[in-house]
Amino acid sequence: MARRMGARGGTLALCLALALSLLGGCARQEEKSQRQLFAMDTVMTLTLYGEGDTRGAEEILDGSVQQIQWLEDFWSAVRPEGDVARVNAAGGAETEVAAPTASLLRQSLELCAVTGGALDITAYPAVKAWGFIDQEYRVPSQAELAELAGRIDYRQVSVDEGTRDGETVYTVTLPAGMELDLGAVAKGRTADLLAESLAADGVSSALLDLGQSTIRAVGEKPDGSPWRIAVQDPAGTGYLGVLELADLAVGTSGGYQRYFEQDGVTYWHILDPDTAAPARSGLAAVTVVSPSALTCDALSTALFVLGLEEGVQLWRDHPELEFQALFITDEGELYLTQGLEDAFSLTEGYEDREVTVLS
Ligand code: ADP
Ligand code: MG
Repeated sequence: MARRMGARGGTLALCLALALSLLGGCARQEEKSQRQLFAMDTVMTLTLYGEGDTRGAEEILDGSVQQIQWLEDFWSAVRPEGDVARVNAAGGAETEVAAPTASLLRQSLELCAVTGGALDITAYPAVKAWGFIDQEYRVPSQAELAELAGRIDYRQVSVDEGTRDGETVYTVTLPAGMELDLGAVAKGRTADLLAESLAADGVSSALLDLGQSTIRAVGEKPDGSPWRIAVQDPAGTGYLGVLELADLAVGTSGGYQRYFEQDGVTYWHILDPDTAAPARSGLAAVTVVSPSALTCDALSTALFVLGLEEGVQLWRDHPELEFQALFITDEGELYLTQGLEDAFSLTEGYEDREVTVLS
C-alpha cells in the first residue's frame, strides 16, 4: 500500500516537474542562502533556497538566528537570566516562565511519561556531576550515583497557569535539589519553531541542520527531489547510510557524540535516569524520523536508553507519536522500522551490512 502510493506520488511529481519546466522554459536553479552559527553548544547550518513571499532570504535568516539566540537564552541551564536557570535556582519556589517554555515543558513531560521515564528532563544534577557541563569529567562513586538518581524524577515538575491583568501567566515548580535539563529536547523544539517561521514567510525549501543530531527539512529540494540526510557510522568516521526525506525531521542520539574515557572505559552524555550513569543498552546510536523535530530529539534520546527490544515495543505501541526509527547496535547491526524501508539506503563500503526491517 505504502509502496504503491509512493510510486504514484513520484509519477505525479515527475509530470508536475515536466509541466513546470515546459511552462518556464529552462528549469531555473533556486538561489541558495546559508548561515552558520554556534548556538546551543553546537554548530548550526541553516540553508534556504529561494526567497520568502514578503522578505528576502538574508533578512529571513537574520530572523532565524535571532530566534535561535532568543530560545537559547530561555532554555540553556547555564544562562542565569533564562527560564530554566531561574527554575533551577529557585530552591523549590514557584517560578514564572515564558509561554514557549511552558509549552515545551508540557510536551516534554508527556514524552517523559510515554517513554516510562527513559527520557527525563530533570537529569541536570547527574549530567553536571559527570562533568558534562564544565568539561571537568569524573566518574562519581556508586553512593553518589544512587543519591543523584534519587533526584531525577520528571513527575515532580509541575507547570501551572493563571491570569494577571487579563494575560495568561505560566509558572513552574520543582522540588529543591532537583534541576531541569532541556538538552535532549531544546534543539528539536527550536527546529520546529524555525520551520514554522519559515513557512509563515512563505519559504518552501530549506534545510535546518542544528548540529548533526537534529535536522529539519522544510519542503523538498528546489528541483523537487528529496533531501539526502547522511547517517553517521557510530563506530567510525564515515557515513553508513542515507535517508531520503521531504518535509520531515531527523534526530540522532549516540554515545559517540559527547564522551570521555577513563581507565579504558568510555562514558557518554546520555544517562539512564534509573542509575544516573551512562545508558548501556546495547545500542551505539538511534536515529528517529518524524514530522516533529521535538519528537525526533526526545525519542532518539529515550530509545538510546531503552535499547532495541523496548524501543521497538514503544514504536509498536504508540503509532500516534508518528515516528520511525533506525537502531544501530554496538555490534553494528541495523534495525529499521518499516516506514523507513524505502527511504533508507546503505552507502558505498557498507552495502554488505545486514539490515533488518521491523514490522
Ligand atoms: P545531543 O544533545 O548530543 O543531540 P541528545 O538529544 O540525546 O543529544 O541529548 C543529550 C543531552 O540531554 C545530554 O547532554 C544531557 O544534557 C541530557 N540528558 C542526558 N540523559 C538524558 C535522559 N535520559 N533524558 C533526558 N535528558 C538527558
Ligand atoms: Mg535528544
